[in-house]
Amino acid sequence: MAAFHLNDYHRVVFFTGAGISAESGVPTYRGYGGIWARYRPEEVASEEAFRHDPETVIAFHETRRTHVARCTPNPAHECIAQWQRRHAGITLITQNTDGLHARAGSPAVIELHGSLWRMRCRQHGSFDDISDGPYQHRDCPYCGASLRPDITWFGDPVDRHAFEAAALAVQDADLFVAIGTSGVVWPAAGFIEHAHRGGATMVEINTEATEASTLFDHCLRTPASQALPCHFLPPAGAD
Ligand code: NAD
Repeated sequence: MAAFHLNDYHRVVFFTGAGISAESGVPTYRGYGGIWARYRPEEVASEEAFRHDPETVIAFHETRRTHVARCTPNPAHECIAQWQRRHAGITLITQNTDGLHARAGSPAVIELHGSLWRMRCRQHGSFDDISDGPYQHRDCPYCGASLRPDITWFGDPVDRHAFEAAALAVQDADLFVAIGTSGVVWPAAGFIEHAHRGGATMVEINTEATEASTLFDHCLRTPASQALPCHFLPPAGAD
């Protein structure tokens, strides 16, 4: 059985996608039961849709948020959070917007695609935390422009600061672990190739093969909540 001792690596990247939250009850986008089997992305997750029919877009995000609020982090989120507290060289990059890494206690998370729990000013990009209340049509308290969910929709650029921080960590990684991502959403998926080219030991945790599987040295076809506690030896030290 493959086992990875985290103390053997100096710069570790965990790169997570919707699959890590599947066992918490958050549906993935693609595959059986996926969100895109029920919704058309261009009608609920694009700036154009928001301009034409903000009510439908807000309702979609509110439904997702209400659902995610009932879900709890699973052992995969919890392992990463615990290991981050013991090993200064771990970077966590997620494509998820559900906030479950933070709720599991991860001290730092690079959120490439934003968060369901924030609104963003469409003019200046300032944020408004909405963890405590429902989505509403609101204006920016600073400039009066309208707010939109802080999610990277189809056609949106990825947040530059998040992308740069992620790229720096990936370029230096000696262990790169992709968990529950189909690896088809760009530019995030490019990190897999980037880490591979950089010479990192590559581990894929996914219940199914993906288009990127050939870039990995080890493919663990095990659900994330089992793969992390079974195949990784935690760094030494107390939390
Ligand atoms: P995806 O839906 O394209 O792929 C999910 C992957 O997870 C699949 O390859 C599937 O085989 C795998 N998987 C399913 N259950 C698993 C498990 N228990 N253990 C391990 N692997 C499992 O998701 P993606 O690659 O993250 O990319 C799509 C976009 O989806 C991202 O941009 C993200 O913003 C968004 N998204 C996020 C959430 C969330 O926040 N939880 C949910 C749905 C979609």
